[in-house]
Amino acid sequence: MRTAALAHNLQLARSHAGSAKVWAVIKANAYGHGLLRAAAAFAAADGLAVLDFEEALLLRGAGDDRPILMLEGFFKPQDVALLAAHALTPVVHEREQIAMLQCEALPSQIDVYLKVNSGMNRLGFRADEVHVAYQALREHPRVRRITLMTHFADADGAHGIAAQLARFDAMTNGLDGPRCLANSAALLRFPESRADWVRPGIMLYGCSPFGSGVPRHDAAGLGLQPAMTLTSELIALQRVCPGERVGYGFGFEATEKMTIGVVACGYADGYPRHAPTGTPILVAGKRTRLVGRVSMDMLCVDVSAIPQAHNGSPVILWGEGLSADEVAAGAETLSYELLCALAPRVPMVEVS
Ligand SMILES: *Cc1c(COP(=O)(O)O)cnc(C)c1O
Repeated sequence: MRTAALAHNLQLARSHAGSAKVWAVIKANAYGHGLLRAAAAFAAADGLAVLDFEEALLLRGAGDDRPILMLEGFFKPQDVALLAAHALTPVVHEREQIAMLQCEALPSQIDVYLKVNSGMNRLGFRADEVHVAYQALREHPRVRRITLMTHFADADGAHGIAAQLARFDAMTNGLDGPRCLANSAALLRFPESRADWVRPGIMLYGCSPFGSGVPRHDAAGLGLQPAMTLTSELIALQRVCPGERVGYGFGFEATEKMTIGVVACGYADGYPRHAPTGTPILVAGKRTRLVGRVSMDMLCVDVSAIPQAHNGSPVILWGEGLSADEVAAGAETLSYELLCALAPRVPMVEVS
């Protein structure tokens, strides 16, 4: 773990944000990096965005007094007292939440985010509900600032954000308050989405929201630095002849004489089991490929062209020198999933 990379990436996000304030999104244990470690590394963020009360209370318990955005808001009447007691900013995305705010005593004022469904159809009020919801919150004596937010479904893809942005503007026309729209992809790709607050997540961890396929838009091209490097070692070597097979299901067959390296890392560490033969990996600093099926605690690699490989040779599964985006592409997933799936049994060490 290189905590300095987190701070660097935040700085980069800010440089794209203009005068907008920055929420550092640290949900899902800071995308696998450790909630409190990331919060400290993101000291320069204006606020922290999380999912649940457990995360929010951990931050408050550690003495963090910055604004905390609850991305899914709150779930039950008892949560309302917690919002006020810990000065948390909930996303309000459905009518039941407003009813809870009206019924439960709020001992002090809170800020809220009103979520508008501009087309993603996951969370948020529809066009015919937004103004009613806004009014109800506006009339609440303990609701201070109302920020209007929405979330983009395809800021990294072919649809972009134009239609959702136009819809959001129309739906919130005439409503007062700051706006908060952009995730990492929108922040990097669409300056018009910056508004008053931005909500970058994945880029803070050194991965590209656009994956690894697009030059200049991959992590290195964007100037992002990986914070998490998943490392291991070779623990055995096998020499195989043409026709011999490797691993569970005999999933790989050698077509020539090969040297197979056995790496002490498997799906119980968070390496994706569905990563196929060919997924990139670094052994002793050299790029090679996964062969056969990933097992629980081990995986196999082709070290035929790395004669210096021996038991104890260092292996990089992703991170420094091999972007998680590239590994994710090889495994037909996203860096988001790789980072979040890192297993608790993997020790985390700070490197400089
Ligand atoms: C996770 C999340 C983000 C951050 O998205 P990235 O793609 O990781 O930048 C922003 N906003 C909301 C509502 C989210 O849930």
